[in-house]
Amino acid sequence: MQDEQITRMYEQLGISKDVYRFGTQIEEKLRDRFEAIDRTAEYNQLKVIHAMQENRVSEGCFHYTSGYGYDDMGRETLEKVYASVFHTESALVRPQIACGTHALAIALGANLRPGDELLSPVGKPYDTLEEVIGIRPSSGSLAEYGVTYRQVDLLEDGTFDYENIEKAINEKTKLVTIQRSKGYQTRPSFSVAQIGELIAFVKKIRPDVICMVDNCYGEFVELQEPSDVGADMVVGSLIKNPGGGLAPIGGYIAGREDLIENCAYRLTSPGLGREVGASLGVMQSFYQGLFLAPTVVASALKGAILAANIYETCGFKVVPDGKESRHDIIQAVELGTPEGVIAFCQGIQAAAPVDSYVTPEPWAMPGYDSDVIMAAGAFVQGSSIELSADAPIKPPYAVYFQGGLTWPHAKLGILMSLEYLVRKGLVTL
Ligand SMILES: *Cc1c(COP(=O)(O)O)cnc(C)c1O
Repeated sequence: MQDEQITRMYEQLGISKDVYRFGTQIEEKLRDRFEAIDRTAEYNQLKVIHAMQENRVSEGCFHYTSGYGYDDMGRETLEKVYASVFHTESALVRPQIACGTHALAIALGANLRPGDELLSPVGKPYDTLEEVIGIRPSSGSLAEYGVTYRQVDLLEDGTFDYENIEKAINEKTKLVTIQRSKGYQTRPSFSVAQIGELIAFVKKIRPDVICMVDNCYGEFVELQEPSDVGADMVVGSLIKNPGGGLAPIGGYIAGREDLIENCAYRLTSPGLGREVGASLGVMQSFYQGLFLAPTVVASALKGAILAANIYETCGFKVVPDGKESRHDIIQAVELGTPEGVIAFCQGIQAAAPVDSYVTPEPWAMPGYDSDVIMAAGAFVQGSSIELSADAPIKPPYAVYFQGGLTWPHAKLGILMSLEYLVRKGLVTL
């Protein structure tokens, strides 16, 4: 009876019986993996609750503050909670940090000085970082301030090129930046353990080098965070994993006290540092979002794994593949044709709670060398912890899929993407 009602509800939303049956058969084979994800979420949920209890989070932490924001108890306590969750000495968690790129730019700009060198031992960083660093010339980049940049690409098989990393570290090297998630590249994402090995290698050569991890999309995917394996700073966005879908803005930097102090001076002003910055009523969403984040990340991970297995079964190349262990929430699916990525994204959009009636189309976006299509029916603009997908309209015609605040929504989105591909005749079940 319950099954029948669920099938009927799917039909009302536009999912045919065949697509539902196909998806559900694949889902049934994923029980063990989903159970392991739930166990990770359980651990991380306890970790967050423990951090909140330890720092005596109270109702008073949610109060609105304005103006300079001196003695903002909610802000100060939240920063302690983040430091507890990441097991760091200190943290900066603020609505004044506009996004992940801004958080990373602060962490870099605050801790590098003219004449210093920045090293990425994991290949090209995330697109937006290219302008922060000055790989692509940009006004105000680190390059303009006399910070040089060096990069060591990954080996063919996606592992670290230790030999050339050792050669690249010199007396000028001040900071090493390690991106945990592949972002929108085809390289593998790194496990926390792998990041730990890389940091240990760097520290053996130069113990004083600052190791920073771009933690975007990686938070709460594993039991540990990079700060548990030697990272001096971890940096991320609150409109991704740790905001739990509720934070309407924000970023965080957690790490060593002296480094975070520098970040605070960079964010506000020398002399003022972390003492100013009113929280304008967003604190409750920051706390509650962090509280929900472990289970939200679990939903997104289940969605990514279901998508990988469904599209792999349909004969497409998926990265990571259906069986691989996960280190972030992003799933790439190579659909091979423009029609394929467009249908996929239109399906994701049609399953959204917001703007489901609009049809996404490819368009020219600043910073991209091809048209891009994006599906995002989100409560928070551009939020990619909410179910979303995007694809550049160029070979290999891969779509990048991520998020899902709840597992049923992630599942609906994937089934709807498949439904659209089936209707267009691009997939036969
Ligand atoms: C999203 C992302 C960023 C940038 O974050 P924004 O909030 O989009 O500015 C940086 N690095 C990685 C790996 C990301 O996934």
